Amino acid sequence: MSSVTDLDREHVWHPYAPVPARGPAHVVSRAEGVRLTLADGRELVDGMSSWWAAIHGYNHPRLNQALRDQVEDMAHVMFGGLTHEPAVRLAHTLATMTGLPKVFFADSGSVAVEVAIKMAFQFTGRSRLLTVRGGYHGDTFGAMAVCDPVNGMHHLFSGALPEHVFADRPPAGFDEDYAARLEALVAAHAHELAAIIVEPVVQGAGGMHFYHPAYLRRLRELADEHNVLLIADEIATGFGRTGELFGCDHAGVRPDIMCLGKALTGGYLSLAATLCTERVAAGIGVLMHGPTFMANPLATAVAGASLELLRERPWREEVGRIEAGLVAGLAEAAEAPGVRDVRVLGAIGVIETHDPVDVLKIQDIVMEHGVWLRPFNRLIYTMPPYSIGDDLQRVTTAMTAAARALGPA
Ligand code: PMP
Repeated sequence: MSSVTDLDREHVWHPYAPVPARGPAHVVSRAEGVRLTLADGRELVDGMSSWWAAIHGYNHPRLNQALRDQVEDMAHVMFGGLTHEPAVRLAHTLATMTGLPKVFFADSGSVAVEVAIKMAFQFTGRSRLLTVRGGYHGDTFGAMAVCDPVNGMHHLFSGALPEHVFADRPPAGFDEDYAARLEALVAAHAHELAAIIVEPVVQGAGGMHFYHPAYLRRLRELADEHNVLLIADEIATGFGRTGELFGCDHAGVRPDIMCLGKALTGGYLSLAATLCTERVAAGIGVLMHGPTFMANPLATAVAGASLELLRERPWREEVGRIEAGLVAGLAEAAEAPGVRDVRVLGAIGVIETHDPVDVLKIQDIVMEHGVWLRPFNRLIYTMPPYSIGDDLQRVTTAMTAAARALGPA
């Protein structure tokens, strides 16, 4: 019988990879707490939370139970003309948490962004967006069009992507000149803009850059002044990751439309949501979207349980401890010659290198230290489960060892 590894190489696409993939895909046989167990018996501390999602760790008894309870009632029913308690209760919880009362359930982050864009287009009757360089909003066409035009690989799909308006990437510190350029750009395009779309405070997969919250406040003001909507893509930043419940909270800003995903189900199932204000919902009327698995009962039930867990756990303290641990644990990495910058915000730790890293080599090093990371391009980064505790040190030690093994700049 062929092994899982052989069949994987024969048949299966992995993210941003050819088939077969260039490197090995490690077979995971179990995930428990903050640890992944590989089929060969190795145990790895997970520094990635399965791409921002598994904030409570894996195999959590409360989340497992929520799924078991729900599956006994129903795994799925269509959402057209029918409704159910887990979805309705979750919508109520999300509306209370965000101050945005109207909730559209989508099945992935990218689709939530598509829905946000549709909302803005339908509401304003306009169809251009303004965003900043260095962003990432998903892999579907509408979302791709607002990803960074260089590292978002627009060149592969040029001709198929709408051309939106791009401001420069917001600097880490506040720069009045940048803000003035941003204002001028919004003013110049206001007549054709439906919305401004950004990831609040942290730009994730577009380069793991952090920017000053004052820019977000400025964007809110500009959107109001020019009668344009503000869309906050909180898919990565939502649910405490940056040290505040939402990225927008750093700036005290409420967007007109917000996208949530990833940690929404504690990393159990694919579910996302697009929320908007009363005004936007009323202005849209009929929203032209309705996926088959909209508001899936299993996903909404586990999301409800995950948000309950989040409310109960001292996430602010946990994220604060992780932040302090990352600052201390990565300080030495900043001295390595191949390292350009080390930055930390909340439970996010980033080593930016001068040159693109050899991903397989870095993975070998961190796996020797018993850690799972997925570096890309010039980034070795972590966003661990909030429950990581003392295992964080293992992650920072592994990252530091990886930084030391980089060549000189
Ligand atoms: N927006 C942001 C900010 C993201 O980080 C991601 C996922 N990396 C997405 C959208 C897309 O989400 P999904 O992968 O669930 O489609």
